[in-house]
Amino acid sequence: MRDVYDFLVVGAGFAGTVMAERLAADGGYSVLVVDRRPHIAGNAFDETDAAGLLIHRYGPHVFHTNSERVFAYLSRFTDWLPYEHRVLAQVGKQLLPVPINRTTISRFFGVALSSDAEVKAFLAERAEPIDLIRTSEDVVLAQVGRDLYESFFRGYTRKQWGMDPRDLDKCVTSRVPIRTSDDDRYFSDRYQAMPKDGYTPMFEAMLGDERITVRTGVSFREIRKHVAVRHVIYTGPIDEFFEFQFGPLPYRSLRFEHRTVAQCRFQRVGVINYPDAELPYTRITEHKHLTGQCHARTSITYEYPSETGDPYYPVPTPANAALYSRYQALADATSGVTFLGRLGTYRYYNMDQVVGQALASYARMFDRCAPDTRPTRAGRAYIGRGVTTA
Ligand code: FAD
Ligand code: UDP
Repeated sequence: MRDVYDFLVVGAGFAGTVMAERLAADGGYSVLVVDRRPHIAGNAFDETDAAGLLIHRYGPHVFHTNSERVFAYLSRFTDWLPYEHRVLAQVGKQLLPVPINRTTISRFFGVALSSDAEVKAFLAERAEPIDLIRTSEDVVLAQVGRDLYESFFRGYTRKQWGMDPRDLDKCVTSRVPIRTSDDDRYFSDRYQAMPKDGYTPMFEAMLGDERITVRTGVSFREIRKHVAVRHVIYTGPIDEFFEFQFGPLPYRSLRFEHRTVAQCRFQRVGVINYPDAELPYTRITEHKHLTGQCHARTSITYEYPSETGDPYYPVPTPANAALYSRYQALADATSGVTFLGRLGTYRYYNMDQVVGQALASYARMFDRCAPDTRPTRAGRAYIGRGVTTA
């Protein structure tokens, strides 16, 4: 006998959890959520460590978005702690603001620049003319020139990705703006905040509907034989779902080293970046800055990029995009499964983008079948069409 559910959701990260919540609370469906890791919340998982400090097990997760819809949706499940993230980079003996801004440029070159216009003119003299911006090297060289590129981006990127910025799509380093002002915030989004009690309690609230069953420490492969479902939402790696039939899609991994030190403050800001290619880690996070926690000690996390380990980052190159599009075509031709999330759609998405993708996918699922009917009824029609056994 198999357990029967309307939906099986594979992965309890943002993508899977938002879908499960919508399907249960809005659609009225029964949903089984499985995750092969021993906890919910995916890479956003946070927990109290042995010293009693709230830490992000998979590196610093700072929530930021310009989407009122996404922020309003998540606000149903958590209160927020306002937090504006700041990052410094250790360059030589100096700690300089990242993103590169007026202060960074003034201190790096030892000049006094006092207006946006002066910075613009200063950078225009150094920027390299590049007709077609294609790569992650082009993006930076075309804005700030070689000195800043080599000191802030080249070493960091080579460590983080195991390849040169000129081999990576422009979308990677484009994530970090170049500013002519003295704004030293890492993000400039309208909403910047942390879930007040942490991410994991927010996920618990989202998965709290009685129609949702959650099983952690269980993989898709293990569960699929034991359940009968009408539809699968799959948020794991898409190449793994299709048994790597076109070859593996590359993902970049990280090793996290968590430490607690017997001092109240370790560093001036939440994250310090280390672009120096000689150091094996890319950044150190001091969690108390992010969580607002008061404690006599403090916990920090080093990030060491790695070729092996859990898949954290899709690697944006033209060859990988081409390989992904073959898997995507296969996904489009496969009924009974919807692929979502950073791994399921091989996109370098932030948390808010994944939430937005899942909300849009839920809305589309129902609209596609019967735009004139209410979502719940339309949804039932949709999943009724392609009954699948996972
Ligand atoms: P995930 O969180 O990866 O969830 C997928 C889940 O599926 C995983 O828990 C996995 O165990 C499970 N799974 C996979 N395959 C299977 C299977 N076969 N069976 C069962 N379970 C399976 N975003 C921000 O907005 N701000 C930040 O500051 C930020 N910082 C980040 C820092 C780091 C170091 C990293 C790696 C990411 C960061 N992100 C940040 C991005 C953020 O983590 C992602 O956007 C988001 O977590 C993606 O959610 P997801 O549900 O798509 O994937
Ligand atoms: N980057 C860099 N130096 C920095 C910060 C970022 O070279 O000081 C590059 C690097 O390639 C990194 C990318 O910009 O992977 C995106 O940075 P982001 O902080 O968005 O990375 P994430 O938080 O996703 O790891």
